[in-house]
Amino acid sequence: MKPILEISHVSVAFHTYRGLLEAVHDVSIAVGEGETVGIVGESGCGKSVTAQAAMKLLPAGTAVYSQGQICWDGQNVLPLTEREMNMLRGREMAMIFQDPMTSLNPVFTIGSQICEGLRLHQPMESRCAEEMAVGLLRSVGITSPEKRLRQYPHELSGGMRQRCLIAMALSCSPRLLFADEPTTALDVTTEAQVLSLLQRLQQDMGMAVVLISHNLGVIARMCRRIYVMYAGCVVEEGTASEIFYRPAHPYTQGLLASLPDPDHPGRTLTGIEGQAPDLFHMPSGCRFFPRCRQAMHICTHAVPPVYTVGEGHQTACWLVCPERRRS
Ligand code: SF4
Ligand code: MG
Repeated sequence: MKPILEISHVSVAFHTYRGLLEAVHDVSIAVGEGETVGIVGESGCGKSVTAQAAMKLLPAGTAVYSQGQICWDGQNVLPLTEREMNMLRGREMAMIFQDPMTSLNPVFTIGSQICEGLRLHQPMESRCAEEMAVGLLRSVGITSPEKRLRQYPHELSGGMRQRCLIAMALSCSPRLLFADEPTTALDVTTEAQVLSLLQRLQQDMGMAVVLISHNLGVIARMCRRIYVMYAGCVVEEGTASEIFYRPAHPYTQGLLASLPDPDHPGRTLTGIEGQAPDLFHMPSGCRFFPRCRQAMHICTHAVPPVYTVGEGHQTACWLVCPERRRS
């Protein structure tokens, strides 16, 4: 499948008062037309930065793209101007964020916010925009949409606010939707409803979805392919079944061991000991070695290359190095 979005060897750093901080290192991610791709990892591992980099939403004065390319339909978007990027944002790619309360403006009605977005991309009369807004709210499962349009964000529940944001993101029928922790602020029942909604919309509209979450359970339910990120790097990528049944990287294995397994209800859940490294003091060698139970001497000083361990399944870990296995 030819990718519509191809992030190749991208590194992103930020100017901070302590100096330059690299948040994403040599990350490569590809998304095909209509595909659902998951990015999973602990908070601070660079998932959101990667997504925002793809849409060039990072603050221009502080973020530095130190290497790599981000191609949309084969064209590198990094040299594009804001004006050119605005042609892509909304129509081609859109994003929904974690917290619907901070993403909606509290002083404007839901209707005015959706209509503003619609009219920004295609000039139309306000009546027409309102009709479209009603249709959009209905498509995301909001009942009495005419009434909701006149309400303010605080008058809606968390689940309903998230549905409104999804409606706004879908208003220009994007080809790719980034959903950055879209259900983290919601309770479990509402989370399940919002995920089903995303799944239905993805199938109906044929758009690609990049779902970002720290929850491997959520990712597994939705995605065909998964990228596992740790400390700014992709440490494993593969199809959902490869990642689930044959995880190759000790970090992925740790994430899986911390998930409840309905087939083995009595199993003790084990977390991953320790904490993600401080991005200013990255360990030499493998970034995971201070927490890795299987670490070897080589891991402390040599960065593990990426090895192919199955079809479309790759990992950056010395454990799977063919020479090491032969010796
Ligand atoms: Fe663990 Fe070494 Fe693999 Fe890193 S390279 S995950 S430290 S075994
Ligand atoms: Mg994030």
